[in-house]
Amino acid sequence: MFKINENYLKLRGSYLFSTIAKKVAAYQEAHPDKELIRLGIGDVTLPLAPAVIDSLHKAVDEMASAETFHGYAPDLGYEFLRKAIADNDYKARGVEIALDEIFVSDGAKSDSGNIGDIFSQDNKIAVCDPVYPVYVDTNVMAGRTGTFLEDEEKWSNVIYMPCTAENNFVPELPKETPDIIYLCYPNNPTGSTITKAQLQEWVDYANKVKAVIIYDAAYEAYISEEDVPHTIYECEGAKTCAIELRSFSKNAGFTGTRLGFTVIPKELKQGDVMLNSLWARRHGTKFNGAPYIIQRAGEAVYSEAGKKQTAEQVAYYMNNAKTIREGLSEAGYKVSGGVNAPYVWLQVPEGMTSWEFFDYLLENANVVGTPGSGFGPSGEGYFRLTGFGTYENTVKAIERIKALNK
Ligand SMILES: *Cc1c(COP(=O)(O)O)cnc(C)c1O
Repeated sequence: MFKINENYLKLRGSYLFSTIAKKVAAYQEAHPDKELIRLGIGDVTLPLAPAVIDSLHKAVDEMASAETFHGYAPDLGYEFLRKAIADNDYKARGVEIALDEIFVSDGAKSDSGNIGDIFSQDNKIAVCDPVYPVYVDTNVMAGRTGTFLEDEEKWSNVIYMPCTAENNFVPELPKETPDIIYLCYPNNPTGSTITKAQLQEWVDYANKVKAVIIYDAAYEAYISEEDVPHTIYECEGAKTCAIELRSFSKNAGFTGTRLGFTVIPKELKQGDVMLNSLWARRHGTKFNGAPYIIQRAGEAVYSEAGKKQTAEQVAYYMNNAKTIREGLSEAGYKVSGGVNAPYVWLQVPEGMTSWEFFDYLLENANVVGTPGSGFGPSGEGYFRLTGFGTYENTVKAIERIKALNK
């Protein structure tokens, strides 16, 4: 008789977004005349850039001829793409990453989940609180998280690192020593970031305690300030302790086409075993590559035209984020984020919970956002709005929120 992976039964339901969807649907049904504005969006909304579309068309045409047809992609990804990544994302920032340290994939979500395959079940993970839920859920599936403590809303075997206004949303080094540390900067959901000096402390700590940092840099393209690292490998010693996840989703709108990559330096070892070799083996066995067509589209992101066009898209979202941040600030809210990330994180008014503020905003301004408590216990009292809507709707939503004060 077969047995299932019982860890899946421990998973918490996708409580956050299903609850939001239900509340929004119920409100709209009761008030069909109200026009709702959704600023809870965690997905891009602009179409793919023209340079990307051209490249897609060209690659599709190549598939129609026997001379230029492509079957299975190489395990690590096509060299044309890995070269573009190494040159533009790393060499241009003074970091040498070899082509066989780059693994092209179908996105950072799969990689952040799958990377757990190369680590034993007996690893203690540390996550920021609030957190991108994928890090915790995939470790629940792997059986690393212990039992769920209902009253604390925490897993017994996970180290939670609170990120609140008090520490500027960057965690302190944990008291208990973790084996695997998840960091995501610029951060989803708080929109905050980390300075190079702060990240260096984490790298030094990880090397000292022999932990691995899984660094999610999906929002790298949104960085606008000087002192913010674009890659963890800007920090000295990062190659012996860090794995970096990247995505084409948020910088170039590939959420629907799917493309990302993971960097594992060959210096990153346990004893004489390179994690790079384990991941290469995992990739070769369980993954048959991102499509040729999509890898060509990814290459186009690094062309002159592609860089310019995708930078314009990022600027559009960041202008929305700025509109939200400044508008809410004027309305008297305490806000953070929205400078190096498309997310604005606001403190809900005194005396309200995140969910109460969600209802208040839905009913009084017809604006939909995301309650901070849905991302972890330390998110209580906070609320996330995103710059991924249209400019017109963003302006309208902020006007409505401002009008609540009158
Ligand atoms: C959107 C997002 C990603 C990107 O995932 P893809 O699978 O590449 O689309 C990764 N990490 C975080 C924190 C995100 O918000």
